[in-house]
Amino acid sequence: MAGVEGGHDGIPGVPQVSMPLAAHHRRRSLSVPELVEGVLAGDRVRLARAITLVESNAPAHFAQAQALLTEVLPHTGGAIRIGITGVPGAGKSTLIEALGLFLLERGMKLGITAVDPSSTITGGSILGDKTRMERLSAQPAAFIRPSPSGGTLGGVARKTTLLFEAAGYDVVLVETVGVGQSEVSVRSMVDFFLLVLAPGAGDELQGIKKGVVELADAVLINKADGASRLLALASRGEYERALHYLQPATEGWQTPALAASALSGEGLPELWETIQRFVALTRDNGVFAQRRREQERDWMRTLVEEALRERFLREPRVQALFPQLEAAVMEGRLPAASAAQALLKAFDGA
Ligand code: GDP
Repeated sequence: MAGVEGGHDGIPGVPQVSMPLAAHHRRRSLSVPELVEGVLAGDRVRLARAITLVESNAPAHFAQAQALLTEVLPHTGGAIRIGITGVPGAGKSTLIEALGLFLLERGMKLGITAVDPSSTITGGSILGDKTRMERLSAQPAAFIRPSPSGGTLGGVARKTTLLFEAAGYDVVLVETVGVGQSEVSVRSMVDFFLLVLAPGAGDELQGIKKGVVELADAVLINKADGASRLLALASRGEYERALHYLQPATEGWQTPALAASALSGEGLPELWETIQRFVALTRDNGVFAQRRREQERDWMRTLVEEALRERFLREPRVQALFPQLEAAVMEGRLPAASAAQALLKAFDGA
């Protein structure tokens, strides 16, 4: 199988660590040291299996996955992490394929993954369609990993990014769709965040939530070719003016509006030049390293908050009280704060 690596060929939702190398090979689990060695050597098969391990929701895999990540951690951080968002149809896959091939031509290795808000239900759709990045997925220097199901939104993409970096990838692209919470999640794990738009949306932002523009380090008007070229250039101008009035997503950086054609490749050198300029500036003024440290801290806090919420909601005393207190609040018989306090008391065992 070329390119797109999936570990989801077992029971749905239960990634298999010991999946076969090929149909005719026997399964053999790899130990954590074997995985670490393989990842650090850039071995694609072991990298795929390492990702499968860190994707696993099985409690039995947690300790192994953490051991693996702890071992590779000193070898991470070397890639430029780029997030890409936009509504379906804006041209994200086409752009990732074109930008990916452009970077490979320059001798870079590229890891691609996704944060898919629908994946908890559907088992992942972004990047799952192998025909979407056909040329890129055939390249040995590109590794495409669709987002799996389950877990905390964005959790797997973070871990996958670390494994890509340990395997020596120069650029990690994290794709998401511009429909809600997932952009915030991707913004909080990347260095540079790109918003891809189709031409001609003006201020309506074509279904993209308004706040998303404020998360972006560049807005790219795609499809600046053929009949839509002039419209794309006009949109670029409008966004450029609008961006002047917005607080930039990154301190010290004026968010530019760019125009490009993912189909013809026009504008891609400028996009890459913009990203390099951004990296140089933020490395220079300390924002790059500072943001990464804060992202790690925030992620730790998120994990704690999630775990606490889950524990709270699973507590039998809480579960017993929840429906009646909620009903009392809705019927106006009990102030929300009293109900919340009663639930927390129940949780504490009081
Ligand atoms: P995604 O849903 O954002 O990943 O969008 P796709 O990459 O699947 O592209 C959606 C449609 O737009 C496809 O039919 C593409 O061929 C087309 N498309 C993407 N980029 C360009 C471009 O630069 N120019 C033109 N004319 N069409 C494009």
